[in-house]
Amino acid sequence: MKLLVMGPPGAGKGSQSKRLVEDYNLTNISTGEMFREAYKRGEKLGIEAMEYIEKGNLVADDITNEIVRKRLMKKAAESSFLLDGYPRTVNQAKALDDMLEEMGTRLTAVINIVVDKEVILERMVGRRVCKSCNATYHTKFRPPDKEDLCDECGGELYQREDDKPASVRNRLNIYESKTKPIIDYYKGRGVLVNINGMQSFEAVYANIRRSLREIIR
Ligand code: ADP
Ligand code: AMP
Repeated sequence: MKLLVMGPPGAGKGSQSKRLVEDYNLTNISTGEMFREAYKRGEKLGIEAMEYIEKGNLVADDITNEIVRKRLMKKAAESSFLLDGYPRTVNQAKALDDMLEEMGTRLTAVINIVVDKEVILERMVGRRVCKSCNATYHTKFRPPDKEDLCDECGGELYQREDDKPASVRNRLNIYESKTKPIIDYYKGRGVLVNINGMQSFEAVYANIRRSLREIIR
């Protein structure tokens, strides 16, 4: 199984990917997560990337392609992986095609989570993330049992800098101009699956599972 999960920021890619990765035993490749982890470790790559991320801009294609290439070429990713938040530009989509060709494989499905702008805004401003284990919550839609503490590890929850209004607007504009065109890139290849993301977590997941079962069959 080789999956790509797409959609605007705040669509629910990370939330759905977490379950898919567990249920299908996939190697999770989230470029946003990789940049944030590199930043936490104080690595040059992470510190440079964070300059772009905090303002809501995209990290350069060559840097992003390179970190994905390294992960994809590792043994664990050979048979099954899930890409979350990559590709985000048509150039990245082309680079991914080259990598997959090198690996002698292709994508099983491109899952596109479709969500209206108003819903996106509400989801992004209410998102809270665990500092220790990266589990994701929402102040209204998925509140933790104890305020500001992670249910899974007890870690402290925080609001991502790029979920604050100034960056959110920029991220949405960039999604429209740079990332949305990728949908057309995958259309016509018979792998694109549009999923209505404006439903409960469970309903979205059930729709994804159903579509995957059909594709595999
Ligand atoms: P993305 O990875 O696409 O940026 P996330 O999975 O982090 O999005 O979700 C963004 C926010 O919206 C999080 O706070 C998450 O808890 C919440 N969320 C995700 N899916 C749903 C849903 N189906 N219904 C309500 N809230 C959701
Ligand atoms: P995410 O965790 O997917 O919401 O990503 C957070 C941020 O990391 C994005 O807004 C970008 O600044 C950066 N980022 C993540 N993935 C990519 C990518 N494929 N290309 C460029 N920048 C990325």
